[in-house]
Amino acid sequence: MLSAVYNLPLKVKVNWDLCIADGVCYALCPQVFEAGPDGKAQIVKEFRGGQPNEGKIPEDLKDCAEQSRVACPVGAISLEPE
Ligand code: SF4
Repeated sequence: MLSAVYNLPLKVKVNWDLCIADGVCYALCPQVFEAGPDGKAQIVKEFRGGQPNEGKIPEDLKDCAEQSRVACPVGAISLEPE
């Protein structure tokens, strides 16, 4: 896969309509996710886009973010190639 070779960014997003602020994702992958003011997950400042709940991460953080995506109990995290 190209992105694996060139370390291309991946889009990551937290759906705040679904997030229940249980903290699983930022416990598992604090390199990408952190708690927002209300406890719902947001993207850490380094990788954040226009909105706190979305951003771009390098390929080498994919496994970490993917672990959180899978573990999120409400399926609020999306992760896809840019
Ligand atoms: S794991 Fe899911 S529900 Fe829990 S804080 Fe993260 S995005 Fe929200």
